[in-house]
Amino acid sequence: QTISYNEETIHKTILVGDSGVGKTSVLVQFDQGKFQSGSFSATVGIGFTNKIVTIDNKKCKLQIWDTAGQERFRSVTHAYYRDAQALLLLYDVTNQSSFDNVRAWLSEIRQYAEEDVVIMLLGNKVDKANRIITKEQGEKLAKQFEVSFMETSAKTGQNVELAFMAVARALISKQMNMT
Ligand code: GDP
Ligand code: MG
Repeated sequence: QTISYNEETIHKTILVGDSGVGKTSVLVQFDQGKFQSGSFSATVGIGFTNKIVTIDNKKCKLQIWDTAGQERFRSVTHAYYRDAQALLLLYDVTNQSSFDNVRAWLSEIRQYAEEDVVIMLLGNKVDKANRIITKEQGEKLAKQFEVSFMETSAKTGQNVELAFMAVARALISKQMNMT
């Protein structure tokens, strides 16, 4: 029996986490390979970006959604989570409250997202000198909630592509296990 994998499947992937952690910057770095310092205007985050990631000769179509700043008002809606197959949850390694809020984001995710959603926790801004959250703290939290974990920098690009590749890899194996 041959294992079928449909390369045309579009995987809705969403970015969540506190305002200012670097969601839009990580997506822009992944999409365009560039970093822009200074805050993005709220409207920049509207809509989605299509990207194709190739893993072991298999193409994985990602439709990556960014918030338009609703997270500032804790009003990311139920609809945003609907049909999401993967989710990148970001915190800022220089911001304690963004790390503390990961638990709240995870309970919202458990409440609104599909049970089998692929979750990747990202500790972003590791290029900065004033880090307060250690890698071990991030790893420990990820282990506790049984999610994948990486540290990234939207500024240098460190691990940004790898993070999306890991998500694509998980999505491909999830789809193959369903067939
Ligand atoms: P969002 O609200 O989660 O979408 O965050 P933004 O992408 O708008 O980023 C908020 C601020 O953090 C901006 O000033 C970015 O330039 C900055 N920023 C984002 N990611 C990084 C990073 O990895 N390193 C550094 N040094 N700054 C970052
Ligand atoms: Mg944003």
